[in-house]
Amino acid sequence: MFYNKNNDDRKDGTPMLTKVYENPAVYRVDVPLPDNPLKNLNCYVIQDGGETLILDTGFNRKECLDALMAGVEEIEADWTRTNLFLTHLHSDHTGLAPTLMKGRPGKIYMSGIDYDYFKEAMVGESWKVSDANYISEGFTQEQIMRLHSENPARGYEPEEFFEVERLEDGDILTVGKWNFHCILVPGHTPGQMVLYQPEKQLLFSADHILFDITPNITCWIGTLDSLGNYLDSLVKIRKLPIRTTLPAHRKNDMDVYTRMEQIIEHHLVRLKETVDAVSRFPGSNATQIAACLRWSMRGKTWEDFPLSQRWFAVGETIAHLDFLLCRGFVERRMENGKRAYCLTMDGELCKSKLDCMWKKYRED
Ligand SMILES: [Zn+2]
Repeated sequence: MFYNKNNDDRKDGTPMLTKVYENPAVYRVDVPLPDNPLKNLNCYVIQDGGETLILDTGFNRKECLDALMAGVEEIEADWTRTNLFLTHLHSDHTGLAPTLMKGRPGKIYMSGIDYDYFKEAMVGESWKVSDANYISEGFTQEQIMRLHSENPARGYEPEEFFEVERLEDGDILTVGKWNFHCILVPGHTPGQMVLYQPEKQLLFSADHILFDITPNITCWIGTLDSLGNYLDSLVKIRKLPIRTTLPAHRKNDMDVYTRMEQIIEHHLVRLKETVDAVSRFPGSNATQIAACLRWSMRGKTWEDFPLSQRWFAVGETIAHLDFLLCRGFVERRMENGKRAYCLTMDGELCKSKLDCMWKKYRED
């Protein structure tokens, strides 16, 4: 069922284009993400009855464009009948959308929720609110300025703003004779969507479920509880019968239900660590709390973390603190222009309440 059209188109032997599913035909274009810890984007191309749907694009940079175009040309897509579906707003997924579709008749589909966030990030000033947020959580003005040039995702956004066909939860896209259900899975971004083919029980899991990395859950302006939303979205997907899962990054080498359980347990461990850190250092901000947590950058201390990785880590820590805040486990106040977190109850009690709460995520 799996074959490689060209086995040696990469120096390290990894194929650029692989057929990963038969009927409907699904190809994976391996789009490299240079200098980024995610390593690659799996761009999927679905084809049936002369129609083509491309899922995601890679960053707006030459290495991504070259790989994407080589893959799409090899598949011989008919551009008069080719559409693009963007799973979520991140630039490793949307970066080449206008470049790819400019002058072509196909549509660009994207969830309305993520599109609104994307629009605000492209043409609005939400980044100013976000920067102020990180400063109140312990970043310095100088670090924020440095981040604008160092963040591995910044600078690779789409070259221009573009219009889309807005999708809502439950909408259906067709490719030839096949239906694909668009399922809203807020969490990783406020409006991420996965595609699900019910007869084949085939799931394109985007960044909602990844296998050898944990999807990044961070804070979003206007979203109170990203982590709570994310866990609810995992429970939502767990109810589906799934035979094949195609993630947006790296490999899938595990049963998807096992992987969802692992991710759910990971966040419980993380929340308990966060509770311990707040208990030991009451009045800390998210940067100080993040410095107390265990991170999987082997051999590196918090001080050795590149600034951009620290930024992601603090975002994740805020998402965990928000989860605790929304459920009354911690309180947040301002002290000298910085946020300060404290537990509202004994740390051990907090952790046993979290254990109780997890029964819902395990058994729901
Ligand atoms: Zn993403």
